[in-house]
Amino acid sequence: MDGKDQIIRLGKLLAEEQRRGCDDRAVNGGLERFLTAWRMDAGMALRYEAVQQALELLAGYAVLDQATRRARVGIALESLRSLFRAQPNPQPAPVASSAMPTRAPTRRASRPDAPARPLTPDSPLDDVPGITRQMVQSFRRLGVRTVRDLLYHFPHRYDDFTSRKTIAELQPGAVETVIAEVLDARTLPMKSGGSRLDVLVGDETGTLKVVFFRQPWLAQRFLVGTKVVLSGKIGVYDGLRQMASPEWQPFTDDDLIHVGRLVPVHPLTRGLVERSARALIKQVVDRCAPMLEDHLPPAVRERTGLMPLPQAIAQIHFPDSRDMLEQARRRLGFDEFLFIQLGVLQRKMIWQAQRGYAITRRDDVHEAFLRRLPFELTGAQVRAIEEIFADMARPVPMARLLQGDVGSGKTVVAAAAALQAIASGYQAALMAPTEILAEQHYRGLRALLGNVPVPRDQRQVSAEDDLDPEQRERLEEIKRILGMSGDDDLDGRGVRVALLTGSLGAKERRRVLEGIARGDIDLIVGTHALITESVQYAALGLAIVDEQHRFGVEQRQRLKDKGYNPHMLVMTATPIPRTLTLTIYGDLDVSVLDELPPGRQEIKTRWITTVERDKAYRHIRREVAKGRQAFVICPLVEESEKVDLPSAEEMHATLSRDVFPDLRVALIHGKMLPREKDAVMIAFRNHEYDILVATAVIEVGIDVPNATTILIEGAERFGLAQLHQFRGRVGRGVHQSYCILVCDKEQNEVTRQRMEAMETISDGFRLAEIDLHLRGPGEFFGTRQSGTPDLKVAQLTDVRLLQTAYREAQKILADDPQLERPDHALLRAKMDAFWVETLQAG
Ligand code: ADP
Ligand code: MG
Repeated sequence: MDGKDQIIRLGKLLAEEQRRGCDDRAVNGGLERFLTAWRMDAGMALRYEAVQQALELLAGYAVLDQATRRARVGIALESLRSLFRAQPNPQPAPVASSAMPTRAPTRRASRPDAPARPLTPDSPLDDVPGITRQMVQSFRRLGVRTVRDLLYHFPHRYDDFTSRKTIAELQPGAVETVIAEVLDARTLPMKSGGSRLDVLVGDETGTLKVVFFRQPWLAQRFLVGTKVVLSGKIGVYDGLRQMASPEWQPFTDDDLIHVGRLVPVHPLTRGLVERSARALIKQVVDRCAPMLEDHLPPAVRERTGLMPLPQAIAQIHFPDSRDMLEQARRRLGFDEFLFIQLGVLQRKMIWQAQRGYAITRRDDVHEAFLRRLPFELTGAQVRAIEEIFADMARPVPMARLLQGDVGSGKTVVAAAAALQAIASGYQAALMAPTEILAEQHYRGLRALLGNVPVPRDQRQVSAEDDLDPEQRERLEEIKRILGMSGDDDLDGRGVRVALLTGSLGAKERRRVLEGIARGDIDLIVGTHALITESVQYAALGLAIVDEQHRFGVEQRQRLKDKGYNPHMLVMTATPIPRTLTLTIYGDLDVSVLDELPPGRQEIKTRWITTVERDKAYRHIRREVAKGRQAFVICPLVEESEKVDLPSAEEMHATLSRDVFPDLRVALIHGKMLPREKDAVMIAFRNHEYDILVATAVIEVGIDVPNATTILIEGAERFGLAQLHQFRGRVGRGVHQSYCILVCDKEQNEVTRQRMEAMETISDGFRLAEIDLHLRGPGEFFGTRQSGTPDLKVAQLTDVRLLQTAYREAQKILADDPQLERPDHALLRAKMDAFWVETLQAG
């Protein structure tokens, strides 16, 4: 059945929507947006009446009432299912010919296998003349299903075969292209088995030997007297110049595809042969790229001077020159940046078009808070707090990112913000990525807020004087559960902080949930549990999310959805260069804590090689003898990888058996359950162990002030930002602390520079920028971040292009915030499709 995959995709989504009770949330942005994007890619699927009917039923979905939605989704699903029942054995798609032409594609008009249907960007790949079933399947594995997909399946590199010479001019060592006639060709057996084809070619200036190994079929192609084009490196063998296994194609009047140009190398998979895939792509690009409609409004194209879309697509596949390739990349990279910027700016506009709670600043409460702090705020903390208070005072929901290196004091800032919300009669919630971090925050926030009295006069529910006995009773019980003894209570004016974790008993949990729903509890700390159905807030005024990069956009949205429109403060210690911030967190305003509290010790950082491990172990032994503790970090090693790196398990075995048999060595790794990990972490924090061997799981900050050494194995495998995060695990107490990086010297120059940067630089932001510069954005994060768009062409380091896209997005949205104008329809559909893909992948 044509378009089967698209129909299944639609069906799956509708089934999910049905399962969720038709709340229009099965996909971000709502069903209608999804459908707009889906239509774009639907291709042949749109030809079915059943599909048309389903689409008609779902028109205007957002404004339908829930009952109508349920009915219509039900019918639409039935309609789609009927397609599969009527055709239990879907017809095989038409295949024009079973094999690729062995020659490069020739004059189109004369093709014997010209397609019955005209080929368009929406055609399924099966319609491409000459494609085999196997190729269709292989492309499908790459996510390429339609002609349009193939047009957007870009080369990952180019071989430069542009330098064309005569044979006399060929220089050994250079990569060159020659056009020559076959003078002689003979097949010879090789000692190692198989055969070799020796070809002698010549032009007016001389002769050249060309050899191919183990490709016996080539003998029929190199017939004496035919002309060929050869591209490859010139070698020397027995004192004579020769080409070994060059790229080649017969010399015809046709385009050069494989030789004599910038030759594209496309990402391939099993079942796809480079030459035939390239020839197929050339055919499709020539025929269909000109049919692409440009989604950029003419005004944008004029202002930016970017290449038109059809040309950019043609040039990125088969560039006429380096310069054209660069221009094509710029244009397509711009598109990606623009989609991102339009998306995030729109999200921000929609978010901030809602009414929020204007929380009027209570200076008396803030000053009481400052008076009780055991330290002075840093300048950066003061600035961030001012920015946050200003946001919260507006009747628009805040969306702010608080970015600050490990130890820069984000918790105090969060506490000050929470206090303002609470003083105005609202609740605040803080969501952390793990239970142990939630617990740590809980203790930290209680210490900071526990002795600050808040005015209760604005509280509707729990102004204690006019409580009836039953309410009073309930409140007493909650305070008992929260561990608020008489003093903490501050005559009913103490901040009531609850930790909502799995360790609460069922009855206590019920009481706490009740307390949250009634507004008896001011500040709730927990994990993802805070956004589950069972938690209802009385008046959530501020939602704080710690370590944002662990949360997706969706979860952020869900937490937001719990209150009506709470102010949102997102905190991260990941030092992300400014340019990336604009992309990834473009929908957030940013406050940066770029200053550490005074008196922080520098963590002594040394890079050693594997043979020097013993020195490091002696150091750890000395520290343990002084009563300190140490972390040993091992990179995650895939079983398939052939590397000399010990896994955490192996390291733990070696250390506990051979190196430190007399010390207490614990192990924590990614395959353990969260509960088990937390148990080990707590035992380590309580000094039941001297050494903790861990995989990257300890990255997220737990406080163990007594740990003074962190040794990192396979240090070259981590990003500098991540190494810096690891390093932040020590130096949290009063003792001098150390970071030891282990990796070998024979590593390349980049590794050497990165290790030296770690030794000499202690500023996380600078390290992140250096890493981005040295390794590029692909490796910057190590793994893809949830909700991070997947960029095919755009370079995150290209700040100028990013800023151009940002400006253009603002201009476009200023005139047409919803992209409703007809001349923006295509842009909007493209942007939606881009985000649908991103959100599904993320
Ligand atoms: P992070 O930004 O990594 O979350 P924390 O909020 O945990 O940092 O703060 C780290 C430590 O620094 C805490 O012990 C905190 O009490 C302390 N701290 C925060 N701000 C200051 C300051 N202005 N002066 C001194 N110590 C501070
Ligand atoms: Mg923190």
